[in-house]
Amino acid sequence: MMRRKNGNKHYFTRMGTRKKVLAFVRVKPTDDFAHEMIKYGDDNKSIDIHLKKDIRRGVVNNQQTDWSFKLDGVLHNASQDLVYETVAKNVVSQALDGYNGTIMCYGQTGAGKTYTMTGATENYKHRGILPRALQQVFRMIEERPTHAITVRVSYLEIYNESLFDLLSTLPYVGPSVTPMTIVENPQGVFVKGLSVHLTSQEEDAFSLLFEGEANRIIASHTMNKNSSRSHCIFTIYVEAHSRTLSDGKYITSKINLVDLAGSERLGKSGAIIALGDQKRDHIPFRQCKLTHALKDSLGGNCNMVLLTNIYGEAAQLEETLSSLRFASRMKLVTTEPAINEKYDAERMVKNLEKELALLKQELAIHDSLANRTLVNYDPMDEIQIAEINSQVRRYLEGTLDEIDIINLRQIQEVFNQFRVVLSQQEQEVESALRRKYTLIDKNDFAAISAVQKAGIVDVEGHLVGEPDGQGFGLGVTPFSAKPGKKSKSKKTFREQLSSLARKEGASSPVSGKELDVSMSKTQMTPSSKEGDVKDMIMRERETSSIEPLPSDSPKEELRPPRPSTPPPKPVAFEDFKNERGSEINRIFKENKSILNERRKRASETTQRINAIKREMDVTKEALNFQKSLREKQGEYENKGLMIIDEEEFLLILKLKDLKKQYRAEYQDLRDLRAEIQYCQHLVDQCRHRLLTEFDIWYNESFFIPEDLQMALKPGGNIRPGMVPVSRLMSLGEDDQDKFSQLQHMLLPEGPDSISFYNAKAKTEQKHNYLKTMMGLQQAHRK
Ligand code: ADP
Ligand code: MG
Repeated sequence: MMRRKNGNKHYFTRMGTRKKVLAFVRVKPTDDFAHEMIKYGDDNKSIDIHLKKDIRRGVVNNQQTDWSFKLDGVLHNASQDLVYETVAKNVVSQALDGYNGTIMCYGQTGAGKTYTMTGATENYKHRGILPRALQQVFRMIEERPTHAITVRVSYLEIYNESLFDLLSTLPYVGPSVTPMTIVENPQGVFVKGLSVHLTSQEEDAFSLLFEGEANRIIASHTMNKNSSRSHCIFTIYVEAHSRTLSDGKYITSKINLVDLAGSERLGKSGAIIALGDQKRDHIPFRQCKLTHALKDSLGGNCNMVLLTNIYGEAAQLEETLSSLRFASRMKLVTTEPAINEKYDAERMVKNLEKELALLKQELAIHDSLANRTLVNYDPMDEIQIAEINSQVRRYLEGTLDEIDIINLRQIQEVFNQFRVVLSQQEQEVESALRRKYTLIDKNDFAAISAVQKAGIVDVEGHLVGEPDGQGFGLGVTPFSAKPGKKSKSKKTFREQLSSLARKEGASSPVSGKELDVSMSKTQMTPSSKEGDVKDMIMRERETSSIEPLPSDSPKEELRPPRPSTPPPKPVAFEDFKNERGSEINRIFKENKSILNERRKRASETTQRINAIKREMDVTKEALNFQKSLREKQGEYENKGLMIIDEEEFLLILKLKDLKKQYRAEYQDLRDLRAEIQYCQHLVDQCRHRLLTEFDIWYNESFFIPEDLQMALKPGGNIRPGMVPVSRLMSLGEDDQDKFSQLQHMLLPEGPDSISFYNAKAKTEQKHNYLKTMMGLQQAHRK
């Protein structure tokens, strides 16, 4: 089965097996039959010709004198009835199954072509193939009540390469094109302007035939036509729709009954001859009107029968020979008859609608069997959609526990409404933030650098002059501190500490260590500078999820671990940067400066891009203006070429150039952004390292008791803060001992707290050193 697609229609051609052209010979009865020259084979399928040596030429020649022709049947003394049965019956019957068929009578003038094809119109018994074919078609239609079959006919005469409609005298509603032309389209070849008449019964069909025959004769008289020069093509068009299988498929076919001009004049119809030439791969169908009009009916995918009419008399033997040669050549031609199936779109839609209605009924039955109240499967209307939206909202709020599943359409709509609600909420959150804060797009480097210049945020995007980090107004990510994290109940220990300290506003200078460890309300006032550093540090700490220590831990009298008072953190930090942290600080600063440089470049590139974009817009506008001018003047096209003036041309060039620049700059910006992201990451990492190291150093230098330091530091494998409690718990025996001794001595909650810390340590994969440190320190105060 082959499928070809033509526009909206689909044509299906079911390929059959290869068939040969059937070639028959009919010998015109005569009293003067050349018995010595023409011999029929016993099988009635061969004919032998014996030619006596040409005595007139008088000389000995080697001319061939005997021929044997194999055919599909030799009809001699055959009745019209038998001829039809042999030659045409099958072709017609297959036409009703969708196969095109062509029956052609070929032969010299007077050999009986017209007699065979049309027959004696005055004598029913002697009627030819045409009326018999029509009869068969209508009989078969009657025998097929399962199909709605329509029959149409046309009758075309080709005389001296001119087309004549032999049925033009009959009323016909259709396009009348004069002169008629042969048109090829994907559905085949047809003659534009030729009237095609619908016939619903045999009788009408006969009337058409007779009308055509009458016109043929009249025309030959009035126009002084020599009928031997004309080809006549009577075509029966069949279209069959199944009444039972309403799949929208239908078949079409046509039967061409061709009465050719005398073969002695066929020189011009070379294509007919070419058909029989197997070596020829190109058949010049268009060379003459006949073969062009029959292009899709000669060979190819149709059933084809050639009936050669010959004389049985010696005088015509020369022409008989040439006719037989042609017939035997045609016998070799193969065709591939195929069914022409088409799809009736309208019918198919109707069928699908029917099917749909049926399935809906089926669904309704299933629903009632499943005890479901009538479910509606139609597309949802606005009210139903609004209801689903409200369900989704209630579900999200928690006032609706679940959304019942009804059908596929409803499920899809539920998901859809989830999306709707989500995007609405996103918008709401954003506008709420906008009401409260000024939001800056983190990719908008111009805006960021402006804010930086104005001194509202520092280079890292941190707010300047907000010591506790609260009240962030500028959400420039990535900020290491996220304002949203600061909810009262979840304040970290350190935050509570620092805010408490600030609230108290106590003025007595207190050592920095108390800042970290004490809950006392009376102890400290960090200088604003100190606050800055500490805040910076705390922002870092915040990200490491520090658990607040119990705030009601017993207050203990502080025992300074060192005789010397530890310096304030900002001061210590400066020291640290020059000493142990100098290398990391150098890298940090280097990365920062690279980052800043890239940001500056990105900002400049952004500005350039914006400028180019503006210029592009201006140019585009100018170009549109020019274009509209040109169109108004009406000279917008000339032989398919646009005519534009120089100004417009220059504008086009400029726009092209700008686009190029734009793309290049954009590419740069993209690269820069990638670099910035990378650098930002490095800077963040460095800062974290710097502060962590600082804390370790600070604690080691000023807080950890020296005995503990001894235990932890040199040979003890313990590095405060870098070692999770779980590790501390699995130390070597000596260390373990020391450690548990310390715990017993130091832990405020007593031995019970050990298991607590153990459990905690076991469950936490990653542990922050501060926890350990603070636990130890807290305990130390005991
Ligand atoms: P063609 O169309 O090939 O020129 P026709 O069909 O007009 O030849 O035949 C010429 C004449 O011979 C006609 O009068 C026709 O009735 C007669 N004729 C041809 N074949 C037969 C036949 N098989 N039996 C009786 N008459 C025939
Ligand atoms: Mg004739």
